[in-house]
Amino acid sequence: MRIAIFSAKNYERTLLDELNATHHHDIVYFETLLEPDTASLSAGFPAVSVFVNDIVDGDVLGQLAAGGTKLVATRSTGFNHIDLEAAKKLGVTVVRVANYSPNSVAEFAVGLILVLNRKIHRAYNRTREGNFELDGLMGFDLVGRTVAVIGTGKIGTIFARIMAGFGCKVIGFDKYRSPEFERIGGRYVEAEEIEDADIISLHCPLTPETYHIVSARTLNRLKRGALLINTSRGGLVDTEAAIEALKSGQLGGMAIDVYEQEAGLFFKDLSSTVIPDDVIQRLVSFPNVIVTGHQAFFTREALGTILETTLASVSDFAEGRPLTNEITM
Ligand code: NAD
Repeated sequence: MRIAIFSAKNYERTLLDELNATHHHDIVYFETLLEPDTASLSAGFPAVSVFVNDIVDGDVLGQLAAGGTKLVATRSTGFNHIDLEAAKKLGVTVVRVANYSPNSVAEFAVGLILVLNRKIHRAYNRTREGNFELDGLMGFDLVGRTVAVIGTGKIGTIFARIMAGFGCKVIGFDKYRSPEFERIGGRYVEAEEIEDADIISLHCPLTPETYHIVSARTLNRLKRGALLINTSRGGLVDTEAAIEALKSGQLGGMAIDVYEQEAGLFFKDLSSTVIPDDVIQRLVSFPNVIVTGHQAFFTREALGTILETTLASVSDFAEGRPLTNEITM
């Protein structure tokens, strides 16, 4: 099948070409984002593959359908960037990668906690400048601390298991209970009890219900000095409110791998330009904030599974086989 791969990065192209040796698709790579102005590039491609910052709204889907696209395959778990209702109306099937090394994201979230709490990012910079001072680098023991996991699905549960291994008390907030989360010692709580946590880590999807789940109100109710970790989606956090909470010391630190306005910034080298986004610039100026560019998924294992699953979904679609990764409303 002819596939147009949008937001294609070099590290994906090499691996996709290798994996495609068994699928034999006709792949064309587009480095650009899929958005209203670039959607016409997909004309004549029955399959289009996208990533998290591509815009797959009603307008773009309309253009895709008019150009003959029947399948949109997102190389991600999250699908908040796709208008599923519009896709359904236009007869465009949407598939994702429901399951790929959730360990990659869970382990990264743990890494962010260790770096943020023990200020390893600051120590790294200091020692390179010949500064071996410890002032300002004090952290806290993780053992005995309370860690709140918002969203105890695949990633949240693995994250919880690792934190339990550090001797943390793990509490969870989710609409559905995971027996695995409880088996590893996690305790489900009501929203108010999250206020007891020393560390809050977000692992729920971005939906209308979870948009700004971390708001000024939530932040004001947290334990003073708590750490916030977001490896899920930027829209879960009201970033302006988080900045105010960091300024007042209510929030002790924040590590984010995702950012509400990340489209246009993340996955690009902007080091030679003046970045016009004042919010991200303010955030990176804080000593107790770590920003990474949506790299939590980025392990050899996860990327291999993401790309193989995407090609396999296109093969299944082409052959009329059942689609295990179809997103249905
Ligand atoms: P999952 O579907 O297994 O788990 C999500 C959990 O969130 C589920 O248990 C669900 O019940 C819960 N949830 C849904 N709405 C909720 C709400 N209102 N309040 C509390 N909990 C709620 O998904 P997963 O594989 O664990 O992935 C979680 C998220 O991680 C994805 O949606 C995606 O946004 C993000 N992610 C980020 C990266 C990255 O590189 N940074 C990579 C993969 C996934």
